[in-house]
Amino acid sequence: MSLLEIRDLAVTYHGSRGDIPAVRGVDLSLAPGETLGIAGESGCGKSTLALAMLRLLPAGTTVDGQVLVDGEDVLGMSWGKLRAVRWAGASIVFQGAMHALNPVHRIGRQVAEPILVHERVGEAVALRRAEELLTQVGLPAWRARSYPHELSGGQRQRVMIAMALACSPRLVIADEATTALDVMIQAQVLELLGRLVAERDIALLMISHDLSVLSAHCRRLAVMYAGKVVELGPAGSVFADPRHPYAAALSSAFPTVGDLASRGRPRGLGGDPPDPTDIPGGCPFHPRCPVVLPECPSTPVDLWPAGSERAAACVRVEGYPGSGAASAADRSEQPADRPRSTR
Ligand code: ADP
Ligand code: MG
Repeated sequence: MSLLEIRDLAVTYHGSRGDIPAVRGVDLSLAPGETLGIAGESGCGKSTLALAMLRLLPAGTTVDGQVLVDGEDVLGMSWGKLRAVRWAGASIVFQGAMHALNPVHRIGRQVAEPILVHERVGEAVALRRAEELLTQVGLPAWRARSYPHELSGGQRQRVMIAMALACSPRLVIADEATTALDVMIQAQVLELLGRLVAERDIALLMISHDLSVLSAHCRRLAVMYAGKVVELGPAGSVFADPRHPYAAALSSAFPTVGDLASRGRPRGLGGDPPDPTDIPGGCPFHPRCPVVLPECPSTPVDLWPAGSERAAACVRVEGYPGSGAASAADRSEQPADRPRSTR
């Protein structure tokens, strides 16, 4: 059974500008020990999805659908039960979480705190566990006596990972957890996170705007656009051979290191993601799509099988129903300007 099963999740904020449908029907599942990356430009709903999973959204936000953790719907849980799930079932590491450490308390005490609160152990035991956790994330045990300002950004992010692992969660959600770190430290921290989750059979949901980071650290990838998953599949295949033009644009936006040709021709994507209060009809990506077809503005798109373990929400996917205007031949032809990864 899946550890996490998200079914038709929809989240709408109610702001001063009106309703903001930030997540619009997402289905995802995650098994123990599995790593799933969620990619997409800023504003496409990634953090909203993460917050909805642990019911951390602002009061008054409308949430529909189901978030099953071990078969139980988080959205309908009592607060008491939810509290237990938040620590032992699932924990979350946010972007810039390292700034969330309390400056006036020693590191050890802060890592020990969730253990003290959620497991009935004494202070000495909790502190010893905190020291063990620090060692596991590559910090010396004596760091438990340090204050946050005595640590570098990378070290503080390791402390946050230690905290996320403190109550032995089965699911870890990392939302842009390393985006604030420089590239070398980011790679080290992600490598560490990947190793720890593999050793403990933890399911990892890693959120980032950076497709290349995700493809290096996750087995599967989901690409989001305007509140929906537009492509899903094994990370390597999605990155190297995307089926959705948006995933292709994201993938080719990262120049290959050492490849002068790709550095000379960085292939970005024009325009901005749609305003969530005014999402275009049909395929929401159609106004920016370099390979748009006449039917795209009027054909609603959902994920459709696009190869082994793969799905994409694009009328160009072979066999996509209702895409009458384009003949099969037209769809299989590869336009010269079709954005493709250079890898
Ligand atoms: P991402 O993490 O992919 O950058 P978010 O989930 O943060 O995207 O945001 C999705 C959309 O929801 C954006 O248009 C954002 O402005 C809007 N949004 C996010 N949080 C709130 C909030 N608390 N109230 C109103 N709108 C919000
Ligand atoms: Mg975000």
